[in-house]
Amino acid sequence: MVQPDKSKPVLVTGATGYVAGWLVKKLLDEGITVHAAVRNPDDEKKIAHLNILAEQAPGSIKYFQSDLLAEGSFTEAMKGCELVYHTASPFANVVKDPQRDLIDPAVKGTQNVLQTASQTPSVKRVVITSSCAAIYTDAIDCHQTPTGQLTEDDWNTTASLDYQPYPYSKTLAEKKAWEIQKNQSQWDLITINPSFVLGPPLNPHATTSESFHILKQFGDGTLKFGVPKYGIGLVDVRDVAEAHYRAGYTPEANGRYITSAHNTDFLELSQALLPKFGNTHPLPKKALPKWLLMIVGPMINKALNRKTIRNNVNVSWKADNSKIKNELGVSFKPIQETMEDAFQVLVDNKIV
Ligand code: NAP
Repeated sequence: MVQPDKSKPVLVTGATGYVAGWLVKKLLDEGITVHAAVRNPDDEKKIAHLNILAEQAPGSIKYFQSDLLAEGSFTEAMKGCELVYHTASPFANVVKDPQRDLIDPAVKGTQNVLQTASQTPSVKRVVITSSCAAIYTDAIDCHQTPTGQLTEDDWNTTASLDYQPYPYSKTLAEKKAWEIQKNQSQWDLITINPSFVLGPPLNPHATTSESFHILKQFGDGTLKFGVPKYGIGLVDVRDVAEAHYRAGYTPEANGRYITSAHNTDFLELSQALLPKFGNTHPLPKKALPKWLLMIVGPMINKALNRKTIRNNVNVSWKADNSKIKNELGVSFKPIQETMEDAFQVLVDNKIV
């Protein structure tokens, strides 16, 4: 059992990210010193929100230039840390070169961070932002598990370099992490496995997260004729941050944690926006028929190919979130709150 000392600094890789922003906020609010590993500490646009958070909170922030693919890049940032949060990893459904753009940063990055953890004697615990994508590829996979829903015992066996490379990157990265963890005894490993994350971005101009792209599409007219009833899990970004925090500081925390609030689909998510934004924005109001999607899918999103449509549209998604509720006491926000708060940020920033 590990109890990291809150007076020691904590490393957060990918601190500029959508998910990481709320984790950094939580740590700063708790009075903790955050070592923020970022690709470019001089990029004001990407870190402005973190500086504002640090000014308002009892904790403090220090930046370190780090790249997932540069060996030894996290050495300075990790010095003196007992707890390491590794969140950095590209999240994109459409890339030019999946090996270069997704797999290498995810897997080699994980390897890089964990090797540095083993070379840094102060490190006691590493919490990795994995994903439900390391557990499944398509909603149909939920129905093929032993319990009919995703659990922490399940692994993604259906993604590949050619089909859904993002889930493949997360699966390979998490597997690599457990393999490295088992070969040493200095630090323990916990993975947070969120489903699709939405909720307000702290800096909508800093992230290229797929979460943000999809949210934008709800409001920019792309989906005004309808939305695929695509089975997914949803979790609020603020609850994901809380889950990371508790995973770091709960001594008994162990293994993987499915971090998913709702078994839902894109139609239900967009409908949650209608009461507040239905009169002002071209939101989708109905489901697009599956046959039509087979024709227009790739125009909405290049990743919506026929196999993806067949395996996800009108297919329910189901995961068991009892482990994180019981062991870490995490509770989840309702869909309405997550969706409205997220969309409001886009409206306020004139993005939709
Ligand atoms: P995001 O906003 O795009 O954050 C990704 C972070 O990774 C950014 O800080 C980015 O840095 C960093 N990064 C990417 N490539 C890097 C490299 N080569 N070297 C150093 N840093 C690099 O996306 P997000 O949604 O917050 O994702 C954060 C984590 O959550 C990822 O591990 C993702 O797989 C996981 N996750 C996300 C969701 C979701 O629905 N959003 C669900 C499950 C899991 P720059 O700012 O410099 O680009």
